[in-house]
Amino acid sequence: MERKVLMWNLRKLTMEGKVLIIKMILLPIMLHVALVFPPSYLYIRKLTRVCFKFLWGSTMEKLKRDYMYKEKINGGKDVPNLLLFFYVKYFCFCFKLLNTDGIFSCFLKYAAGMIFKHWFRVPLNSPVLLCPPKHYVVLEKAIRSFRLKEVNSEILGNQKQVTKVLKKNDEIVLSVSNFSQQKSKKVWRNVFGKYLANVHKDLSWAIVHQCLPTREFQHKRGMLARGKCPRNSCCNDETILHVFWNCPYAQELWKTVGPLFKQVGDLKNFNYQMVLYGLFICPSIKQFEICWMIINCLKNAIWKCRNILLFKTDVIDVKTCIRIAFSQMYIYFLRDKKYLGNEKAMLIWGFKQWNNIVK
Ligand SMILES: [Zn+2]
Repeated sequence: MERKVLMWNLRKLTMEGKVLIIKMILLPIMLHVALVFPPSYLYIRKLTRVCFKFLWGSTMEKLKRDYMYKEKINGGKDVPNLLLFFYVKYFCFCFKLLNTDGIFSCFLKYAAGMIFKHWFRVPLNSPVLLCPPKHYVVLEKAIRSFRLKEVNSEILGNQKQVTKVLKKNDEIVLSVSNFSQQKSKKVWRNVFGKYLANVHKDLSWAIVHQCLPTREFQHKRGMLARGKCPRNSCCNDETILHVFWNCPYAQELWKTVGPLFKQVGDLKNFNYQMVLYGLFICPSIKQFEICWMIINCLKNAIWKCRNILLFKTDVIDVKTCIRIAFSQMYIYFLRDKKYLGNEKAMLIWGFKQWNNIVK
């Protein structure tokens, strides 16, 4: 498994892509063995660690695992929970077999009859093991840790439905900086907008979760002596709000691109909630989507320039930073051009304004 992950690590993947690889490539490999010999709790923990190390690209996990398991609309990343997946799968597999009349069902009743006694009473005249073999002890644990006894017994043979029921219990939306549930939900919807590229989804997700490795983030975890902003003229702590809004560099950038937003989305004023969470209203949905795409391109460019400054000590001025963002916007623009035609796309993207801004 570790070797397989190493191979994928050679590629530059977004977190969205990595989750997909875990689901499509790593899980089936694990499942191949796991259905015959159910792995122990300790072993699953090791596998989980391998997956998370792969996801974050480092040994430091920057966010609680429980948050990552959540669905996207609730603020998570939809990462598969291995323990839940394997245990429930194995349990449902055995439960279904128990209900058939094959030889295996007889064997299961003999070997694991004690474990399933809540659902099947073994007749007194048939033999049953009081102490189930090692492979079935896992079932006991699955019943206990996921409270399977409380689940309706009619759906217990179906893994998908059981997982759905179990996940329903933790369908709480992760709240975003003191916002109400509804507002938080809206933020998560913006973050995972279908029209966004995966890189931008990742970045805005990390920003909302405050888990981007800024200097202040590292300082809090004892990795740096000070969390000061890396820009020379600035002596504030580098928080997420600072990088993307309060820093003079960011302020200058938003001021420069202001006219574009006025033209594209008819936006009059500008605040940090728009930049970080996408909380603003436009006359039409398409206009909102374009504005949010532009904001994400700009945020990505700011973060790129900040990293170049930090690791390569190369200062990139605001105009060049905006140009970097434009190069990403152009890809979105091309997509719209394909569907809407050149003239209309140019109009809704404010294409003529682009040159004026970076002049
Ligand atoms: Zn600064």
